[in-house]
Amino acid sequence: MLDIKITTVAVKKPKPDQNKLGFGNYFTDHMFIMDYTEGTGWHSPRIVPYENLSISPAAMVFHYAQEMFEGLKAYYAPNGKILLFRPQKNIERMNNTNRRMCIPEINPDDALQAIKAVVRADSDWVPTLPGTSLYIRPFIIATEARLGVHASKTYQFIIILSPVGAYYATGINPVKIYVEREYVRAVKGGTGQAKVGGNYAASLLGQKKAEELGYAQVLWLDGVHRKYIDEVGAMNVFFVVDGVVYTPSLEDGSILPGVTRASCIELLREWGYKVEERKIAFDEIIEANRAGKLDEAFGTGTAAVISPIGELCDGGERIILNGGKIGTIAQRLYDNLTGIQWGKLADTRGWSVTVD
Ligand SMILES: *Cc1c(COP(=O)(O)O)cnc(C)c1O
Repeated sequence: MLDIKITTVAVKKPKPDQNKLGFGNYFTDHMFIMDYTEGTGWHSPRIVPYENLSISPAAMVFHYAQEMFEGLKAYYAPNGKILLFRPQKNIERMNNTNRRMCIPEINPDDALQAIKAVVRADSDWVPTLPGTSLYIRPFIIATEARLGVHASKTYQFIIILSPVGAYYATGINPVKIYVEREYVRAVKGGTGQAKVGGNYAASLLGQKKAEELGYAQVLWLDGVHRKYIDEVGAMNVFFVVDGVVYTPSLEDGSILPGVTRASCIELLREWGYKVEERKIAFDEIIEANRAGKLDEAFGTGTAAVISPIGELCDGGERIILNGGKIGTIAQRLYDNLTGIQWGKLADTRGWSVTVD
């Protein structure tokens, strides 16, 4: 149990219009901070007013990117309770990332307590309009002021909160995806399976190129063979071929193990679908499409939940999926996951955690 010291703001900020939240534009009144010092461990957990940090320009995070982050949401349920969706999975992944980045692990119970405490402190910021939620961004930065390349001896674990809008304000629109053959996001043995800022920095140029060509996201291929499918944008990806659901397997370590991905696989298997986790060559998808067997494809992640793919462009080849409309499996997953997340469907699997 952490002994969290709480300092509340003198004057709360005005709340933004819930119809115009967008993603990650507004931040709440408070944040959680905990320090790490080598020899002492994690200490001084506190909730303080949201404000700028004061850290040395020599802090190692700025130079060698020793940092990690997580992303989950708090949902306002019809009974007035605030729900988290499988936060233990995010915390487990946080510690997996920490090990990869030589960042000290955090006791999972302490991490959950911290998340609940800061959401509770800003519970009036959890938006209530349909589809809206409070995005929770825990992250850890290396704060030691030294330019030698080694793991930092000091860190800060911080949790900030941002009310976010309905992802699909005007109905679920399938997105156009560009298959990237020049740049890669991650390689076997690298940091693809870790949730770290560096992966995102490395993905920006490919994303920019896709946008310039009129596409919403990039389909990333594996960094070694440029052949197997890794992810789509910052989402995991699923394909339905001839009634069987396929998603890239995680064993090469270049794919981020999404909580939404894991939840979709569990639901699909429960519903009797055959789900295969394996290496998927992009050529197989092209062939399946030519044979008329590519039923649908979609990305999965906390922000959008399910993002149907309407079009895939690979050089000269354009694949239009399911007539550019959302498929039946994507729709069923979306309805069930969002139903559980917002507390509108019975949670029979113990996935929801109440912030009380
Ligand atoms: C966070 C993330 C995902 C999705 O993970 P969820 O836990 O489902 O939100 C997928 N790919 C990348 C690269 C990510 O950073």
